[in-house]
Amino acid sequence: MIYLDNAASAPVLECARAAAEPFLWECCGNPSSVHTEGRRAALALIEAREKCARAIGASPEEIVFTSGGTESDNMAVRSAALLGLRSGKKRIVTTEIEHPAVLECCKFLEDWGFEVKYLGVNGSGYVSPEQAAELITPDTALVSVMTANNEVGTVQPVREIASLCRERGVLFHTDAVQAAGMLPLDVGELGCDMLSVSAHKLGGIRGAGLLYCRRGTPLLPLIYGGGQENGLRSGTENTAAIAAMGAAMEHACADIPVKSARMAAVRDRLISLLLEIPHSRLNGGMSPRLCGNVNVSFAGVEGESLVLGLDLRGVCASSGSACASGDERPSHVLSAMNTPRELLKGSLRLTLSEFTTISDVEQAAVAVRDTVETLRELRVWTG
Ligand code: PLP
Repeated sequence: MIYLDNAASAPVLECARAAAEPFLWECCGNPSSVHTEGRRAALALIEAREKCARAIGASPEEIVFTSGGTESDNMAVRSAALLGLRSGKKRIVTTEIEHPAVLECCKFLEDWGFEVKYLGVNGSGYVSPEQAAELITPDTALVSVMTANNEVGTVQPVREIASLCRERGVLFHTDAVQAAGMLPLDVGELGCDMLSVSAHKLGGIRGAGLLYCRRGTPLLPLIYGGGQENGLRSGTENTAAIAAMGAAMEHACADIPVKSARMAAVRDRLISLLLEIPHSRLNGGMSPRLCGNVNVSFAGVEGESLVLGLDLRGVCASSGSACASGDERPSHVLSAMNTPRELLKGSLRLTLSEFTTISDVEQAAVAVRDTVETLRELRVWTG
């Protein structure tokens, strides 16, 4: 099996498994309990918090553990909106290509009277800081722009937009779920007030994530209860998954320039092989693009059929984002990029990990070519 769906969920790293294991089988303590077992669990949270903070240039007290990227995004957006309301700010600025974790939360807020403005993207999948500058008004409560897109891998100009927000005193959140472990991330350099990360995209376990919130930035809880996470995220902590996340982030965020250069070479080989298939097109620009993302459309082919055909040939892939697969509607990201109609439904996303080899992608490319040919023959597609 060749696994090329790392952007949906990456395999759990050995270091993450080792960090989680004691909290699955040996240590049954609740981190809030004062006895030895409880303190052992609490210590694991402290260590994981330190590792996660270090990986993104933050301080441990700026990290709130959550259940994953979706919760972190919801917490950031909803909190900023409610806090904005207090001072009469009812505008939220985001992009058309955000993950549903941000978009659906914004839709909910629209129903409650907020005004959401969406930055468009160009044909290559990039937002423009100039358009952001036009949309950020004095009544803006939050600007949320993803660091890198999950479908087409385009890396957005978040530093520039964060700096605009800073000049105008507006909160800035970035969804770095796909960028963490792929791009060097330093919250100080980025200039963001809040940043979301998910563990299972970088070798941790599904069910853990974090929201970075800059010291002094107000934050409201999304979940109320026993007051865990400094009162910001109630509910007994998932100690095993959080311990694993600390280990995974420490590993994934180290040596990124070396890892990403190697991965980009493997990615480029795959892109060049796929573009040899007639009537194919790369979706999303190349500079800057995540080192592990390949997204190619094939005219006359349905993405879902392609994914199923590839599965039969031992290749795990995705059409668009994992959350959207099984959904009949064309990808909102490709639509926002004005992708031609005949290519809109035929997109294939192949996402690499640091362990993907040239041989893996060469075999995968053969499988893609064969599957595309078969599907085109079945549909009597004449090009
Ligand atoms: N944001 C982005 C950009 C993502 O790609 C994803 C998952 O695909 C999420 C948020 C949601 O993360 P999680 O699956 O941890 O809830």
